[in-house]
Amino acid sequence: MRNDANTTTCLVCGQRLVKNGRTAAGTQRWRCPDCGASSVRKRVDLVRRNQLREFLEWLHGKHSQHELGGASAARQLRRRTAWCWDIEPALGPVKTRHRVILVDGIYIGSWCSLIAVTEDLQVLAWQWCSTESSAAWSALLTRIPAPEVVVCVNRPGFDAASF
Ligand SMILES: [Zn+2]
Repeated sequence: MRNDANTTTCLVCGQRLVKNGRTAAGTQRWRCPDCGASSVRKRVDLVRRNQLREFLEWLHGKHSQHELGGASAARQLRRRTAWCWDIEPALGPVKTRHRVILVDGIYIGSWCSLIAVTEDLQVLAWQWCSTESSAAWSALLTRIPAPEVVVCVNRPGFDAASF
């Protein structure tokens, strides 16, 4: 029995579980001293972490899903890792004041990504917008402490934007 509730009480009779060896995979097995039901606890965070690692290895790898083990394995991989497509990467707040930052915009399809990077090309922040405007540039720049120098080619709306 898989203990999805992740409790140390028996899902059958409610008694407190006791440790009962390990599975072949090394997972702690639990047993109810009252009714004898056996279960393993499943840590959702570890499952998710492994699924994300698997997803990223496939995403950054050279093999198609099919090459990882056939149609069935590919289908299972897609099912296990479907939630990973919904992750929106986010950067923390920029606290360091950089002397120089570089900014640019790039159109991807019908959207524009404004991006600010350090001299070493470390990404500080990005901002999606439908079109470059002073409001979009300001939305990007207000997340970064004002530097001494901003390196920028002539971008629409940038001159009117502020930190
Ligand atoms: Zn029980």
